Amino acid sequence: HAEETAREVKTTCPYCGVGCGVLATPRPDGSVGIAGDPDHPANFGRLCSKGSALGETLGLEERLLHPTIGGERCDWDTALDRVATTFQAAIAEHGPHSVAFYLSGQLLTEDYYVANKLMKGFIGSANIDTNSRLCMASSVAGHKRAFGSDTVPGTYSDLEEADLVVLTGSNLAWCHPVVYQRIAAAKAVRPQMKIVVIDPRRTATCEIADLHLPIRADGDVALFCGLLRHLVEEGATDEVYVGEHTTGFAEALAAAERWRLSAVAEATGIAKSALTAFYDLFTRTGKAVTVYSQGVNQSASGTDKVNAIINCHLATGRIGRPGMGPFSITGQPNAMGGREVGGLSNMLAAHMSIEDAADRERVQAFWGSPTIAATPGLKAVELFEAVAAGRIKALWIAGTNPVVSMPDADAVGRALAACPFVVVSDVIARTDTTAYADVLLPAAAWGEKNGTVTNSERRISRQRPFLPLPGEARPDWAIFASVARRMGFFGFEYGSAGEVFDEHARLSSYENAGSRDFDIGGLAGLGASGYDLMAPTQWPVRGAVRDPVRAPATDRQAGRHTQETRFFAEGGYFHADGRARFVAVEPPASKTAPLFTINTGRVRDQWHTMTRTGLSARLSAHMPEPFAELHGEDAARLGIAPADLVEIASSHGRAVVRALVTDRQRPGNVFVPMHWTARFAPSARIGAVAHAERDPVSGQPALKSTSGTVRRF
Ligand code: SF4
Repeated sequence: HAEETAREVKTTCPYCGVGCGVLATPRPDGSVGIAGDPDHPANFGRLCSKGSALGETLGLEERLLHPTIGGERCDWDTALDRVATTFQAAIAEHGPHSVAFYLSGQLLTEDYYVANKLMKGFIGSANIDTNSRLCMASSVAGHKRAFGSDTVPGTYSDLEEADLVVLTGSNLAWCHPVVYQRIAAAKAVRPQMKIVVIDPRRTATCEIADLHLPIRADGDVALFCGLLRHLVEEGATDEVYVGEHTTGFAEALAAAERWRLSAVAEATGIAKSALTAFYDLFTRTGKAVTVYSQGVNQSASGTDKVNAIINCHLATGRIGRPGMGPFSITGQPNAMGGREVGGLSNMLAAHMSIEDAADRERVQAFWGSPTIAATPGLKAVELFEAVAAGRIKALWIAGTNPVVSMPDADAVGRALAACPFVVVSDVIARTDTTAYADVLLPAAAWGEKNGTVTNSERRISRQRPFLPLPGEARPDWAIFASVARRMGFFGFEYGSAGEVFDEHARLSSYENAGSRDFDIGGLAGLGASGYDLMAPTQWPVRGAVRDPVRAPATDRQAGRHTQETRFFAEGGYFHADGRARFVAVEPPASKTAPLFTINTGRVRDQWHTMTRTGLSARLSAHMPEPFAELHGEDAARLGIAPADLVEIASSHGRAVVRALVTDRQRPGNVFVPMHWTARFAPSARIGAVAHAERDPVSGQPALKSTSGTVRRF
């Protein structure tokens, strides 16, 4: 045991946005012991089924180990030269906006930082987007509208301290299991703590719920407008907080005025008695947190949903205090880190704004770059539409599988087939997307790479290597930096991930970025050993000379920052006047009733397109095959028996899976998991069925509500 302890490496789980600390112990027989890190403040030793099976998914059988061009193995120099010269030629002939990067919330912050710097500061385009657009974009947009910044105000401990936790659009038990476990444990100690789940399905999360509201798809705006109105009617607003720290309350309330109980019941499909129970509970419970995830974000009204929720917390002053606040929980391990470096097409670095000339000057001056993107680039769905239209001549996809995960996924495959030049850097050799690559670049995987991720409560944690790099695999940041240098750019001479992180931290500091919510200037200058030792750290981490008004106190002990931080209890918002904005929101206009509302999401034991979790027999045993969950009434009407094959179809495409007939589903709705790829189940790609409708503000696709048909196959 002593030997095992000596070789134990502290790292962070590569799956969901909870960001659990993991102790990995490589053993002499080649296996790796995995345990939860008892010292990590996200999980205190807990792991879910996916995290605890990490040791079973580290085999090299499926790995991409060498660069290839046109399917033929080549050396790195040849591959990197081909990428650099082809991108250069496209830019020279068609301009900087003729090229694009499509990245991933799986990448580490250092990877994201270098790719974003190359595209925005040196190529001069903002055509860099990521699968985080499918995950978080509506929360980002809603936060920026309300707070003037993309800030998650609270911490995980707020969820334990709350007397009411509202979970909306979140199957936390399966998608963020350790946070679910923390809430369940808190409720076991304090049974008076109430849990409300708002979801069209009665999911596993409902096991700890006191109240489940089986909401109709996209009924959330009406639901929270009704709550705002109810709070005012009951005199439950915090007039001092609203008066001193916000603007726009009257307009938001006017927009909510028509949402009386009967109107909300009609719009949401929820019984009036259940609505009243929820509204009364929220009204009388000061310590309330509202958690929202993909059911809110993946919607054509996702940004309005986020603001409808935030409005209720602003109106009651329940924000940034222990046990209170709106709480967006991220799907991916590093969606938050990607946002920090500005790795989305409408962001700049360090939470600066691409639309703001002063911000652009700051970033360009810091990078010493020849140019800076001056306008937002293409968002994920638009990006692949531009590829299909022939406007993108060279595309680099890193660490993601859009031919499965994007909506209208067959169209994405056709777009890639027609694109003149596609580079894919990945850890897996054969995915639905690598099939379209002209150049394949082998990337380092979890356990091999070094860097940081940021979880849903703004906590930056280290991923540390404990395995050698296999074959010729390289870290993503190093691959992007190599191509940048070959394109003739200076400023990419990094020797390590720690050097990239240091630059990122310096850029975010008050001196370089001005007053921001995201400021980790206090983590600059840690040096190689400080970076190696860095403990999980919540931002902001401000240095000595800081904005005295907005900077909350933060401990600094030689690179270890342990104090929890919250935002906005005393105002201090990041709009120019320091006030939050209420947003007057209107529910989406009702459309013709869909034949079926097709909803997609995760199952407990798989991650994304199963390239890793699919390797574990134990994980695959939980749900061995894809399914369509539909209500017994619908099944009876359509002559579908349990386990029959059913075809789910839309105007975009079709998928064939087995029927799971339950009473946990809303009639008229069908749920199909997103994970199965052509490799695991040839006809089960639900992304091929999903429509490409998106939120007009955030550009996030509405993956939860495609209209389509279900029939026995
Ligand atoms: Fe990993 Fe998320 Fe499970 Fe934690 S809850 S072990 S981060 S998958």
